[in-house]
Amino acid sequence: MWTQKYEPHPYIKGVLIMEGKINFPISWLNQQGFCEYSLYLEHVQGIELAATPEMIKGQQIHQNLDTNFKQDATETNFAELMKLSKREEYLTREMFVLSTNYGIRGSIDEIWLTPDEFIIIDDKPGTVAYQSTINQVWGYCLAFQDFISGDNRKIIGALRERGTDNIYWMEEFKEFSQIKIKKLLQRMQDMFTGSKHFIPTNNSRKCAKCRFNTHCEFK
Ligand code: SF4
Repeated sequence: MWTQKYEPHPYIKGVLIMEGKINFPISWLNQQGFCEYSLYLEHVQGIELAATPEMIKGQQIHQNLDTNFKQDATETNFAELMKLSKREEYLTREMFVLSTNYGIRGSIDEIWLTPDEFIIIDDKPGTVAYQSTINQVWGYCLAFQDFISGDNRKIIGALRERGTDNIYWMEEFKEFSQIKIKKLLQRMQDMFTGSKHFIPTNNSRKCAKCRFNTHCEFK
């Protein structure tokens, strides 16, 4: 766990206040891209729904990957790993990153640390690189970059088909993407502080498969 002081937000579930700033899970960027209003229903209104079969299956695959990894893994601390990876390649899973600067936190599925670059991998079902999933990867990249400040190795984001080795999207985290994700994070801050509205999608196909559609006045 982190050493920074925090307190839970008085009414938004999952949001913490750290150094006077809203701090939310990076995975919410994916939900934001699907429909901002679903974030409002789930986290501001606090509507709780049972996990879908897809969610349960995803959690199981995730768990299996972790168990397999831990069977062969050697324990080391992150500072040591950063040093060692300047000479040879290493891999780590479920690394927790926290950025109080950008108000985000989350666990990165897998990171490949090499002498030249860091590859930040997020496992997702399917093989389509939606903008919402890319935003989530950029969120991890930004938090990681903030966390390792001072190390100038390249950071690359990647999406991998869950439960396989199939990396179906990969891109370097360049300045253009950094500016875009920082702008989106500011929008998230503004929505959670109440200065901007959570906008419902106008895509009826999303509403048809949305978990919250029985609670939503915009469907
Ligand atoms: S039903 Fe549609 S508008 Fe409402 S939260 Fe779900 S996706 Fe958004």
